[in-house]
Amino acid sequence: MTQEETTRTVLIVGGAPYGEERADLLLVDGVMAALGVDATAHPAAADATRIDADGLIVLPGLVDLHTHLREPGREDAETVETGSAAAALGGFTAVFAMPNTDPTADTAGVVEQVYRLGRDVGLVDVHPIGAVTVGRRGERLAELAAMASSAAGVRVFSDDGECVSDPLLMRRALEYVKAFGGVIAQHAQEPRLTEGAQMHEGVVSARLGMTGWPAVAEEAIIARDCLLADHVDSRLHICHLSTAGSVDVVAAAKARGTRVTAEVTPHHLLLTDERAEGYDPVFKVNPPLRTDTDVQKLRSALADGTIDIVATDHAPHASQDKECEWDNASPGMLGLQTALSVVIATMVRPGLLDWRGVARVLSEAPARIGGLAGHGRPIAVGEPANLVLVDPDTSWTVSGVDLASLSANTPFEGMELPGRVVGTFLRGKQTVADGALLSVQVI
Ligand SMILES: [Zn+2]
Repeated sequence: MTQEETTRTVLIVGGAPYGEERADLLLVDGVMAALGVDATAHPAAADATRIDADGLIVLPGLVDLHTHLREPGREDAETVETGSAAAALGGFTAVFAMPNTDPTADTAGVVEQVYRLGRDVGLVDVHPIGAVTVGRRGERLAELAAMASSAAGVRVFSDDGECVSDPLLMRRALEYVKAFGGVIAQHAQEPRLTEGAQMHEGVVSARLGMTGWPAVAEEAIIARDCLLADHVDSRLHICHLSTAGSVDVVAAAKARGTRVTAEVTPHHLLLTDERAEGYDPVFKVNPPLRTDTDVQKLRSALADGTIDIVATDHAPHASQDKECEWDNASPGMLGLQTALSVVIATMVRPGLLDWRGVARVLSEAPARIGGLAGHGRPIAVGEPANLVLVDPDTSWTVSGVDLASLSANTPFEGMELPGRVVGTFLRGKQTVADGALLSVQVI
């Protein structure tokens, strides 16, 4: 560490941890050194940089288990640097980068490259996810142990974008990662049931004449994989769970003790398949937007813990891949800078989650599932100073071109969303101040 980092002292004044009692917070050397009345009385407080957090809520830095940073290979859509900037502005201090890059992150070499790029940018901790199979082709297992023992220390593996549909490969992957405490994150999509699919299979797809992606294609894979995880006593994580039926499958598995966790995306908490009616490909995503019945069930499942976390599935696409006919457009949506506001709109404002709950689904649980020791920790003395300051009372209007991402494909364009990230701290170092990025010295 540099001298500058080891001596940094910050006093956050007037903020409310978890939206509860106000308590000043003293950050020294990247750690929370004192809390409440002890913070201002602490000898180090006199020389500290003071940050006014009056009226702001203090939460642990957010952790995204599902981000696409596009580097290496599609640096026209996003880079580790621009994605890290979007993440910090969205209140994140750690993100997990999906391996569907070019080359695929299926070797120790590629995951170490992404890990080092993230470290050099220094805005958030970038943890690469390793591919389950070579080239994500679903034919043979990638070098999982080599990625786990690399400098990147990979613990999460996924072929995201593709389903590990071969049950024997899935079984072997689940067995293999047990040796190093890993988890398989499944993109649950039965490929034969979704050939040519363009949107959710239902009344809207029938009306529009589009090929449908039936809910059962997700639910069948989740059911199978929960049984496989039971059979080999391993850990399974379900990416972007999107249907009411999937909630029932996961609830039943959890009730019998399956080691399964599940995520929901912000867009599946807010938007429905009716958005396809305008044929605007910004609403094309995989899994597709579902019905209002699904949306309501996803919200209640997130509130009751059946769904463990919110993960963004931040999927930047260059304009030529999105501004074309629906059938030819790439599926995916931006998510890092809008995630917290969408969770406030869909969960906090309706009373389904309090701020402790937000900390659980956007920080603590994703850090635990991903095996991060230094993130998702309580706001308490001695803990790493990974923090976000949130203004709960303001609102903002989303504009894709104003987001830090290199791409602009936000499905929330023009929408007014509640709550705003004001400040972000990574190990005591401020990355975002007054809602704007601070240039961070490379360490
Ligand atoms: Zn996926």
